Amino acid sequence: MSVLESMVQEAASVAILGHIHPDGDCVGSTLGLWNYLRREYPQIQADVYLKDPSEKFAYLSGFNKILRHGEEKEYDLCICLDCGSEDRLGEFACYFRNAKKSLCLDHHVTNTRFAQVNLVADGASSACEALYEQLREEAVDKTVAECLYTGIVHDTGVFKFSSTSSRTMEIAGKLMAKGIDFGEIIDGSFYRKTYVQNQILGRALLESITFMDGKCIFSAIKKKDMEFYGVTSKDLDGIIDQLRLTEGVECALFLYETGPQEYKVSMRSQKQVDVSRIAAYFGGGGHVRAAGCTMSGSIHDVINNLAGHIAKELEASS
Ligand code: AMP
Ligand code: MN
Ligand code: MN
Repeated sequence: MSVLESMVQEAASVAILGHIHPDGDCVGSTLGLWNYLRREYPQIQADVYLKDPSEKFAYLSGFNKILRHGEEKEYDLCICLDCGSEDRLGEFACYFRNAKKSLCLDHHVTNTRFAQVNLVADGASSACEALYEQLREEAVDKTVAECLYTGIVHDTGVFKFSSTSSRTMEIAGKLMAKGIDFGEIIDGSFYRKTYVQNQILGRALLESITFMDGKCIFSAIKKKDMEFYGVTSKDLDGIIDQLRLTEGVECALFLYETGPQEYKVSMRSQKQVDVSRIAAYFGGGGHVRAAGCTMSGSIHDVINNLAGHIAKELEASS
């Protein structure tokens, strides 16, 4: 029996948490586990807490059951998925702290092992892939498969990032065999964009700037631009991926303003730069090829600070 399943069997109530600004892997893994528990352990009271998940995941079973605001409650077990550190639990960290037992199931190389039991598969493409390994294959039904497939699709950029392994594809195949509409999951949750999402993507690409002889590229979106287009951070998905695909670029940076002189930074690299190390240095985290952090200062300051670290990484790898 898996570690997850043995811990679940001793609990009457389970809180399932992800991370702030939940992405596809976070929504997919938390709801995947919730649907699994509902089917296999209907006697357990299981609740998923996520702050402001994107409506594009509303097709996942249980999406409308996600709890968005916390109130004092003590669970027997708290399971944190796709979350590398306690601060990333955001306002729901109270359920983690109050729970009798805690388990973190994650795949971030920067994971701080903050729970009582930590299963960190840093070679796995996604938390969904790591979660699949903890479940009994025959008990994974179509609703669970839709969730896990969604997470794998999002964290692998549709099966292309370096974290995609033959095991990832094997699991995706097994999930497909559960009868999911895989094409619609990919189009509907990953590629489809609203008109304003396309506009802000276009604007970010138009204003992008290359530096370090074209090896790096960055683009930044100010709060006033987000207000002008009527978009929130959830509408900015995909911008960093397109920047990353610019020919000759090793490292792509995307910034959006989160407060006065404060930016959320997304970083992606191709082959040489370990962006997880740079993000961790600035208090964030992530993976070798995809990481993020929040930084203070002007756009100019942020890029200057990051450029120094990128240059060192490039030097070290050449
Ligand atoms: P993003 O650029 O926000 O898409 O994030 C890329 C990867 O880095 C994801 O796996 C995130 O979970 C992780 N990440 C982003 N921001 C942070 C942060 N502030 N702290 C830790 N991990 C982060
Ligand atoms: Mn995530
Ligand atoms: Mn993930």
